[in-house]
Amino acid sequence: MKNWIRKFMTGRYGLDQLSNAMFISSIAIILGSILLKSTALNTAGIIILMLGYLRMFSRNTSARYRENQKFLGLFGNIRRKAAGYKETAKNRSKYKYFKCPGCGQKLRVPRGKGRVNINCPKCRHTFIRKT
Ligand SMILES: [Zn+2]
Repeated sequence: MKNWIRKFMTGRYGLDQLSNAMFISSIAIILGSILLKSTALNTAGIIILMLGYLRMFSRNTSARYRENQKFLGLFGNIRRKAAGYKETAKNRSKYKYFKCPGCGQKLRVPRGKGRVNINCPKCRHTFIRKT
């Protein structure tokens, strides 16, 4: 039996973070669909589950690898952004945050310094703000 599985999985992609996320979210969606008695949600959950299996058993490993990398990149971005917001909230009493009118770069200036000349380190744009 185990031999049969090994033979079946040779040359196939297997499990990765994206498939794992698909399995977990599909289970959550199916459970939610039972609670909400929603057929549409149930179908969506089953489709995600099936796509997860298709990815796992796929022989096109390079395409699946690329999908997973894209997924990890996206997820990393969201995590980095959340960490940035947390940092901003934590330092709000000490610093004032401005967006550079030239390039949109987020700039941090100590509070309570009156009117200051802010020099954007990214695009060299200078502007005056009250802290
Ligand atoms: Zn700038």
